[in-house]
Amino acid sequence: MRGIRMETLNKPNEKLRYAIMGGTFDPIHFGHLAAAETVRQTLNCQKVIFIPLGNPPHKKNRILSDAIHRYTMTVLATNSNPDFEVSNIEVNRDGYTYTLNTIIELKKYYGNDVELLFITGADALLEIETWYKVEELLKLCSFVAVTRPGYDKLMLEQKLLYLQSKYNSELHIIDVPGLNISSTDIRERIKNGASIRYLVPEAVEQYILKHQLFKE
Ligand code: ATP
Ligand code: MG
Repeated sequence: MRGIRMETLNKPNEKLRYAIMGGTFDPIHFGHLAAAETVRQTLNCQKVIFIPLGNPPHKKNRILSDAIHRYTMTVLATNSNPDFEVSNIEVNRDGYTYTLNTIIELKKYYGNDVELLFITGADALLEIETWYKVEELLKLCSFVAVTRPGYDKLMLEQKLLYLQSKYNSELHIIDVPGLNISSTDIRERIKNGASIRYLVPEAVEQYILKHQLFKE
């Protein structure tokens, strides 16, 4: 069976299911990768599409690394997994980028035969109501909230129930391995000259060193 894509194994009228993992990925780390792989397997997704965010309005208090660096690190980190893909749909867009527009574009591209699931960490899901046109967004696409150390699962479950009843939307919670890793912490470590080994894939670590990212 090796080499045959799942797509070709699906019955003609069976919907494909792709998970979308959006993030600033500044830098991408093992927390992102383990969450994506767990969702892919648990919800039988044929692939996970990683989308480095372009210029999200909620990150305007911090200058992000150049999109090309964040995109390249995401490619390096996901390269070895044939079920992972990276999209440049957001990093190529000018101005603020909104998840709603990205989902609309992806839906147009893949058509009705593909079901899209958007993955968010617990922290992101808890503040989803601050996102652009959240009502439209939650109607358009199912959301998968993954557990994250430091964020109470009970609170997450309550938030999900609240969102489900308020917006009549489809949301799931998936337990993922609790990796207490964040890009913020990785950037701090680099600033302080501390090791980031085993927090990010080796190729990402090498890339950060080579381009002297997050030094100041
Ligand atoms: P930053 O500290 O810069 O916000 P981050 O580690 O939160 O970085 P993001 O790029 O903001 O990474 O996260 C992208 C998505 O991945 C978000 O939905 C976030 O909640 C989720 N995520 C990030 N790290 C983890 C983790 N360790 N476990 C589960 N989900 C995570
Ligand atoms: Mg974050």
